[in-house]
Amino acid sequence: MSNTDFALAVEDLTVSFDGFKAIDKLTLYIDKNELRVIIGPNGAGKTTLLDLICGKTRASGGSIKFKNTELTQMAEHKRVRLGIGRKFQTPSIYENLSVFQNLEVSYPKGRSVFGALAFKCDDEVQAKVQVVAEEISLSDKLDTEAGLLSHGQKQWLEIGMLLMQEPELLMLDEPIAGMSARERDLTADLLKRICANRAVIVIEHDMEFVKQIAHKVTVMHQGKILAEGSMDKVQNDPKVIDVYLGH
Ligand code: ADP
Ligand code: MG
Repeated sequence: MSNTDFALAVEDLTVSFDGFKAIDKLTLYIDKNELRVIIGPNGAGKTTLLDLICGKTRASGGSIKFKNTELTQMAEHKRVRLGIGRKFQTPSIYENLSVFQNLEVSYPKGRSVFGALAFKCDDEVQAKVQVVAEEISLSDKLDTEAGLLSHGQKQWLEIGMLLMQEPELLMLDEPIAGMSARERDLTADLLKRICANRAVIVIEHDMEFVKQIAHKVTVMHQGKILAEGSMDKVQNDPKVIDVYLGH
């Protein structure tokens, strides 16, 4: 396969922090419409990998190709425009705006006639907000102040804010932390739907959840890939049991 067949091709990626290699010659390919879960012990480098892909952290070496474009020297906002969406662990929503307004302001500037913050909300933006609200199960909460949502609903709203930009690669760092069992199930359904139109990378610890959503699982350890494959395969890998699942 050539690199263009993948949604994302990461090759020999390395980042050093004062000589410590948090990511060490890591190679990883994500297919289009794939939902990949990354697991591994604390400090394995999972969050750092997402930081490198979205541009929050600069690589020391190696390559990250998205849509056949080299990202490693590209500014963070340009990667967003190219179609990369990243959700951090703590939701960054506007607590005193409504759900509708949170989604509305997330509509990419320049695509709408009036701009994202215009007083007049044109039909295109309205329609998109409705579609996304439906997708994140918040259609009946459009007028609710975001600060009043449950923890899980806030997480979905932030996912919705990213979906407003129609990313082709969406990355989520521990999206179900602090959620109720029901919210976790709904999030699993949401992620399965979302990856029909894009590639999704999820970092997660909850193995039941991983089992529900993962197409493939990548296990990281000390900045490297320890194992990769189906959930079944990695779960039964003695190396994985030794450094991660056994504890
Ligand atoms: P994980 O998400 O798998 O728990 P991280 O990617 O957060 O792991 O961290 C990997 C390692 O890199 C840790 O040892 C962490 O302390 C280190 N690290 C991460 N970011 C930085 C940074 N900006 N400066 C120095 N060290 C960092
Ligand atoms: Mg982390």
